[in-house]
Amino acid sequence: MESNDNIGLSCPMPLSDYPNVLLAHGGGGKLMHQLIEKIFAPAFASPELEVDHDGATLPFAGRRLVFTTDSYVVHPLFFPGGNIGTLAVNGTVNDLAMCGAEPLYLSAGFIVEEGFATESLWQIAQSMKKTADEAGVRIVTGDTKVVDRGKGHGLFINTAGVGAINHNLLINPKQICREDVIILNGDVGRHGIAIMAVREGLEFETTIESDCAPLAKTVMKLIGAGMEIHCMRDLTRGGLATSLVEIAETSGLHIGIEERSIPVRDQVRGACEILGFDPIYVANEGRFVAIVPEKDAARSLDIMRSDWPDACIIGKVTDKHRRLVTMKSIIGAERIVDMLSGEQLPRIC
Ligand code: MG
Repeated sequence: MESNDNIGLSCPMPLSDYPNVLLAHGGGGKLMHQLIEKIFAPAFASPELEVDHDGATLPFAGRRLVFTTDSYVVHPLFFPGGNIGTLAVNGTVNDLAMCGAEPLYLSAGFIVEEGFATESLWQIAQSMKKTADEAGVRIVTGDTKVVDRGKGHGLFINTAGVGAINHNLLINPKQICREDVIILNGDVGRHGIAIMAVREGLEFETTIESDCAPLAKTVMKLIGAGMEIHCMRDLTRGGLATSLVEIAETSGLHIGIEERSIPVRDQVRGACEILGFDPIYVANEGRFVAIVPEKDAARSLDIMRSDWPDACIIGKVTDKHRRLVTMKSIIGAERIVDMLSGEQLPRIC
């Protein structure tokens, strides 16, 4: 008979507030962090998880490997600039890259709903192959499951990735230091608004395309050029704001950014105004910040601009406050930037 190891233990979540999971628990913001802190982190406690980064760095045969996983539930499955397959490859490749690893191998697990068009599945598989080739990774193992009609919303994909670290840097939020400079690789908010525009039938003069893109080549260039990167993070759910708050909280330091330095395309800004969103909270799939010491900032920016012409410096790390992000607005007022709370755009990735 199966034993029940949980006898005597009770769930530490504030059940009176959240007896059931909400969509917002998957939004990348405060509620998701609460689920992780209260349920997953204690259950799976390990030194690797404590690093609080995009993947786990593991010693293996005298080297370091990075291992990461992500599931993709985006709706709709096809959107301007990509589809669930391109997202599933780039998202996992980018998490490996953010740990400073060269992405090598991916797995792909498909959960398909009965009745889903095989033509669409073929198209998605073709995009995954093309995206993997562009990112320099191979999809080497996988799984297929089919669930009942009406119970799978078309298709979900899970990918896991393995990458190798070929340098001696430690890249994670705990490595950032006072006076470090924060470099962003381009305009923010396009992925979220592209998805929202399709979902809500919003029309603009030109179609807003997702920024979905692989980041590993740029990261490898930075590392290859000897840039002493302290931390990187891709700005997915919760956007730029939530990513920086996560880094500030883990590092214990203050991150100060300037609103005027953050590129946002006019159409994205306009859509955000209509929808009541703040672009710094909107999800991206090809945007990241690199946090580097001041001595390497100018060179890192040049290297990033060779791939991303809009890359720019948006702020720096200080010890003025503890565990806080602040933003100087265009009119000069400084405000505290909090983590995304609630769910802005469900099923964005
Ligand atoms: Mg990430």
